[in-house]
Amino acid sequence: MKDISCKLLVIGAGPGGYVCAIRAGRLGIDTVVVEAKKPGGTCLNVGCIPSKALIHAAEEFERVVRIATGRSPLGISVGKPELDLSKTVLWKDGIVGRLNSGVSGLLKKAGVKVVVGWARFRDGKTVEVETEIGVQVIRAEQVVIATGSDTIELPFLPFGGKVISSTEALALAEVPAKLVIVGAGYIGLELGTAFAKMGAAVTVVEAQSRILPQYDAELTRPIVKRLRELGIEVLTDTRAKGLVSKGDALAIEAADRRARTLAADRILVAVGRKPVTEGWGLDALDLDMDGPFIRIDDRCRTSMRGVYAVGDVTGEPMLAHRATAQGEMVAGIVAGEKRAWDRVCIPAVCFTDPEIVTVGLSPEEAKAAGIEIKTGLVPFQANGRAMTLENEAGFIRVVARADNHLLLGIQGVGAGIAELSGGFSLALEMRARLEDVAATVHAHPTQSESFLEAALKALGHPIHT
Ligand code: FAD
Ligand code: NAD
Repeated sequence: MKDISCKLLVIGAGPGGYVCAIRAGRLGIDTVVVEAKKPGGTCLNVGCIPSKALIHAAEEFERVVRIATGRSPLGISVGKPELDLSKTVLWKDGIVGRLNSGVSGLLKKAGVKVVVGWARFRDGKTVEVETEIGVQVIRAEQVVIATGSDTIELPFLPFGGKVISSTEALALAEVPAKLVIVGAGYIGLELGTAFAKMGAAVTVVEAQSRILPQYDAELTRPIVKRLRELGIEVLTDTRAKGLVSKGDALAIEAADRRARTLAADRILVAVGRKPVTEGWGLDALDLDMDGPFIRIDDRCRTSMRGVYAVGDVTGEPMLAHRATAQGEMVAGIVAGEKRAWDRVCIPAVCFTDPEIVTVGLSPEEAKAAGIEIKTGLVPFQANGRAMTLENEAGFIRVVARADNHLLLGIQGVGAGIAELSGGFSLALEMRARLEDVAATVHAHPTQSESFLEAALKALGHPIHT
C-alpha cells in the first residue's frame, strides 16, 4: 500500500477529532483522520446522542403512563400505554446513523481523507494503520491525538452476561425487570431515571455519601426528591462487591457495613471513564502525562513538538463540547492563527429529571477562592411558565462578585433547563454583571425569567419573590 503524506493527521474521529479535521480541511490544510470505529466517536455512537434519545423516549412513555393512571390534572385520558424497547432502539439507531452519515459527508466536503483502522505511532511523525486491506503508513507534519475515553471496568465485576456498560444499556431489546446500577454519577442517574420511567425497578449503589458528588448538594436536592417519586432506591455509602455465585444478584456492603445482595436482571456499571492511552504507541512518543491523561498546555500542545492532544484523553471535564472547542482551536493554530485557550467556562449539563446546568463557579467554589460574593436563588415555583408546563421543581441561582457584581457562576436545576445553558455561558463569556442581566428584557412567559429574577434578587430588589 502506498504511504500517505499529509500536513495534519488526526487520530480519532470523535467530537474532538472530527471537528478538528473538518475545520482544518476548510482552512485548506491537507488533513487525514484515522478512525477505528464509526465517525462521531463515543458521543455520537454510544454516548450523548443515543442516551438522550432513550431519555426522551422514557420521558414520553412516563408522561403517558401518568395520564393513563389518572395522575395528571390536565383532564386528558388515554388507554394503557405500552413500550416496545426494540422499536425505541431502532429509532435511536436511525438518529445515530443519520448523524454518522452527516459527519462523513462533512469530512468529505472539507476535503479530509478518512482512513478506517486502528492507528499506532512509529514515531512522532509516522503512524501505521491496520486497515482491512493491510497496513497503511501515514507521515504527517503535525499530529492531533483525539483517542477519547473508554468505560472503566471494575475488576471484581467484569463486563459480560448480566454485567453491562452504558454501551449495552443503550442497545437492550427489553426493559430489565430489575436493574441494579453501580455509580450514581452522570450515566447511572441519566440512564437509571430513563429505565425507571420505562418500568424497571431500579436500585443505584453509590460509594460516596451522596448522588452526583460533582455537583453541590443544593443542586442535587430536587433530583433526590424525583428519584424517590420514581421509586428508584438509592444506596449511598455503599460498595459493590461482586456477583453472587449464581450470577443473578449483586453483593454489596451497605453503609452500616452489613453484607446484602440485590437481585438483578442487569447490572449497569457506571463508575467513570478512563482516557484511551494504550494500544496506540504512547510509549513511542514518551509524552509528559498529567495523571492518567496526556498533559497539554493552553494551545493543546503536548510535550512533543508538532503533537497536539484534544478531548477526553487530555482530562476533565470529559465532555463533548470541551473536546469540540479544543479541536476547533487546534485546527486554527495549525493553520497559523494566534489562538490560546481563554474560555471563561465550560458548561456542564446533567440530563436527569429535572436537568442540572452549571457554568462557572458555585458559591462554595467562589468562597474557597477567597472571593466575597452575592447570590440570588429563584425557585421555579414562582415562575408562571414553569407552572403551565407542570415543571415547578428546581431553581436558578446566580453567583456574582460582591464588589463589582461580575457574574462568576450560574447554576440551575429544572425540566428543560439544558436549553438555557447557552445563554448562561454567553453571559459569563461576555463578562456580564448582575446589572446587565437585570437590564435585559426576558420574554414572558418563559423559564428564563427566573434568571432575570435571580439577578434582581442578588442586587437586592427582586420583583416576584
Ligand atoms: P471520543 O468521542 O471517545 O472519540 C475517540 C475516537 O477515537 C473513538 O471513535 C475511537 O474509536 C477512536 N480511536 C481511539 N484510539 C484510536 C486509534 N488508535 N486509532 C483509530 N481510532 C482510535 N458528554 C457531553 O458533553 N454531554 C453528554 O450528554 C454526554 N453524554 C454521555 C453519555 C454516555 C453514555 C457516555 C459514555 C458519554 C457521554 N458524554 C457526554 C461524554 C462524551 O461522549 C465525551 O466527552 C466525548 O465523546 C469525548 O470526545 P473525544 O473526541 O475526546 O473522544
Ligand atoms: P461519573 O464520574 O459521573 O460517576 C461515577 C460515580 O460512580 C461517582 O459518583 C463515583 O463516586 C461512583 N463510584 C465509583 N466507584 C464506585 C464503586 N466501586 N461503587 C459504587 N460507586 C462508585 O462517571 P459516569 O457516570 O460513568 O460517566 C463518565 C463520564 O462521562 C462523566 O464523568 C462525564 O464526563 C461523561 N458523561 C457526561 C454526561 C453529560 O454531560 N450529561 C452524561 C454521561 C456521561
